[in-house]
Amino acid sequence: METVLPSLIDKYNRYLNYLRISITDRCNLRCLYCMPRDGLAKLRHEDILTYEEILRLATIAVNLGVNKIRLTGGEPLIRKGLFQLLPTLANLPGLKDISMTTNGIYLKENLDKIKAAGMKRINISLDTLHRERYRKITGYDGFEKVWDGIRSAEKLGLNPIKINMVVMQGINDDEIVDFARLSLDHPYHIRFIEYMPGGFADQGTQLHHVPNSAVKEQIIRLGKLVRVLNTEIDGPTDRFRLQGAPGEIGFISPLTHHFCQVCNRLRLTASGHLRPCLLSDREIDLKTPMRAGASDNDLAQIFLKAADNKPRAHGLVSEHCGSLSGQMSAIGG
Ligand code: SAM
Ligand code: SF4
Repeated sequence: METVLPSLIDKYNRYLNYLRISITDRCNLRCLYCMPRDGLAKLRHEDILTYEEILRLATIAVNLGVNKIRLTGGEPLIRKGLFQLLPTLANLPGLKDISMTTNGIYLKENLDKIKAAGMKRINISLDTLHRERYRKITGYDGFEKVWDGIRSAEKLGLNPIKINMVVMQGINDDEIVDFARLSLDHPYHIRFIEYMPGGFADQGTQLHHVPNSAVKEQIIRLGKLVRVLNTEIDGPTDRFRLQGAPGEIGFISPLTHHFCQVCNRLRLTASGHLRPCLLSDREIDLKTPMRAGASDNDLAQIFLKAADNKPRAHGLVSEHCGSLSGQMSAIGG
């Protein structure tokens, strides 16, 4: 008889159906808000989960009710062999949605493989529409490549194409309206993300977030924002559409608008730890027991324990977490 496993429902009755998997801690960029310019200590190759291990853990998670998986990093498109993993992962029975967050530098050349692997949607991180500013933010002169990748993804019919902009005071907040305008001309979903302080970003850089309420105020100069209803797989994005626009506008506001009460996420780090909350350093090791011979059922119990350990909330409302602690590129954002 088939064993029915319990679902990942936490103490606060949140159904954790969304797993973000960081497949590598390495990255070809050095975004101001994520990594220092001279990089970070890299995990040893043997400390990073293999694709077989990722697949095994993803299968267990899906059997526990996860129906949405996002691959992230570091930069997922720089890990070799990704396209051997992707089709199997995308076809896990029970999985409704598979997607990826990428900086887009290697997007264009990989688009056919991404589509062939069954991935219909993609998130691209892009914080400016100016070439020189892009170089300043990321440490690399790559704006044209990313933009080319986005336009090619649109031509190939990937939908939705989400563009994530981390808004930073005095750095790119003069481009909020230009980004929002993209949703009037293209079917892109533009998502404004509040910069989260802490982590391992460049210590010398004084970055400040811009509250999404202020971002919204700028955008309504372009027209009325009409609310779009969230679906089960949307998570914490507050969705809108400028009247008549083919694209959408979304707000992700971890600082000013705690979305903890609807947080449906678990994170699997590149080193094989489960992290129930981005803003808490509580992690549970899956890799060590897995490599010591744990059964699928043992590993499922660890997933359930991680769900049980998910804090009610982050920041001021919780004593367990406050700002970003840990390496964003290994956790996956
Ligand atoms: N390299 C890929 C990319 O940049 O899209 C995937 C990994 S990156 C860590 C995932 C997301 O985290 C990106 O959209 C990035 O903008 C976001 N992120 C990183 N550090 C952040 C911070 N301090 N505050 C807000 N968002 C951040
Ligand atoms: Fe790399 Fe993404 Fe971090 Fe930028 S945000 S440094 S692209 S991992």
